[in-house]
Amino acid sequence: MGDFGGWVSQDRKHVWHPFTQMQTAPPPVPIERARGIYLHTHDGRRLLDGISSWWVNIHGHNHPRLNRALEEQASRLGHVLFAGCTHEPAARLASELVRRAPAGLSRVFFSDNGSTSVEVALKMSYQYWKNRGETRDLFISLKHAYHGDTLGAMGVGGVDAFHAQFADLLVQQLQTHSPTCRTCPVGQTRATCRIECSGRLEDLLRESGHRVAAVIVEPMVQGAGGMIIWPVEFLNLVRELTRRHGTLLIADEVFTGFGRTGKMFACEHGPVTPDLMCLSKALTGGYLPLAATLVTEPLYQAFLSEDRGRGFLHGHSYTANPLGCAVALESLALFDQERRLERVARLEELFTERLARIAGMPAVAEVRGIGALAVMELHPEREGGYLDSRSPRLIQAFLEKGLLLRPLGNVLYFLPPYVIEDGEAHRAFDVIEEVLASVV
Ligand SMILES: *Cc1c(COP(=O)(O)O)cnc(C)c1O
Repeated sequence: MGDFGGWVSQDRKHVWHPFTQMQTAPPPVPIERARGIYLHTHDGRRLLDGISSWWVNIHGHNHPRLNRALEEQASRLGHVLFAGCTHEPAARLASELVRRAPAGLSRVFFSDNGSTSVEVALKMSYQYWKNRGETRDLFISLKHAYHGDTLGAMGVGGVDAFHAQFADLLVQQLQTHSPTCRTCPVGQTRATCRIECSGRLEDLLRESGHRVAAVIVEPMVQGAGGMIIWPVEFLNLVRELTRRHGTLLIADEVFTGFGRTGKMFACEHGPVTPDLMCLSKALTGGYLPLAATLVTEPLYQAFLSEDRGRGFLHGHSYTANPLGCAVALESLALFDQERRLERVARLEELFTERLARIAGMPAVAEVRGIGALAVMELHPEREGGYLDSRSPRLIQAFLEKGLLLRPLGNVLYFLPPYVIEDGEAHRAFDVIEEVLASVV
């Protein structure tokens, strides 16, 4: 610790970083400490965390109250197994999540990251039908979907850059349109839109509905697949169609949960209640890995039996880790006491204003936003997509100006912790404009 040359060279020698081509990537930025919206590098630079450290940090780094909650819990109980044992932070957090979740979700199954919260939802919905005497071996997911990097979650993924490589390994799922309005999958314009893109989902459900265990979606915003923001009518139609055709709806709110879209959960935009809801990322305010899959009472009831084998025999070593649960509870308290959702509403106004200016820039094909998320899609390159050649250069240009951003290919987005102040947000947009002006 503190030996800069030492630990950075150890990183180069021994660490394999995520989502990184290790041969060509520039050296990783050495972060020594952080406070509020800023990361501090070892060589004394200050970077504005414009992507909330991969969409997890919402109250800012090094928050005194989250620190205290963590310290207090660590001094009582760091971890204990969660089968046959329980503890106060998990019980209180489950109750608090149910209180805030869309009405009807009443049971909480804990795990430890977003991908596992999705695996849990997929396995639960599959076994739900099994326990009721039906075999349903299909899931329906959307083009551009991202539900995590484990094999089950990749099976319902729809981003070629991440998933095509592994196609042979994955359980083939049915895929339907995503409402990518800029390039409408059914050739409509905004003026003529009747959400016909949901028609394919309806066809799939009509043909194979009896074999479909669940439809899985990222409600309102498809994140890693390109920050695609939905018309709310699409969300309502998905709920209506799954209900009409008698299948389950999984809402993967791993990214959208905890205020990012302006509501506590994106399902509230409908509002709809899914049958299962996956949470992780901002659950602990960006402090610790923790996840939860919430389900309705009928789904839970289908696992009750005198037969132990009909239970959900799934778990993880760190299921419901007490440190994570304690910090998550404090994070939820901050939503009330520091009025986080009001702050997100103000950020939405400010972002909308700034995006309107950026919309006219030559490099920009479209801007869009919702809540504390601002998206700027650049005109695609010939090859385009996630491996857009400009994005590594953009990342460096932003870093040089003190802003940490990580475009998804040609899709640039800004999603800072909600505690960012107006002036700081304006400065970040000034930097974005300067850098975009130099993009050809
Ligand atoms: C990030 C993400 C996941 C995966 O979460 P991890 O914690 O990275 O495994 C799943 N679903 C969505 C919508 C996500 O954005």
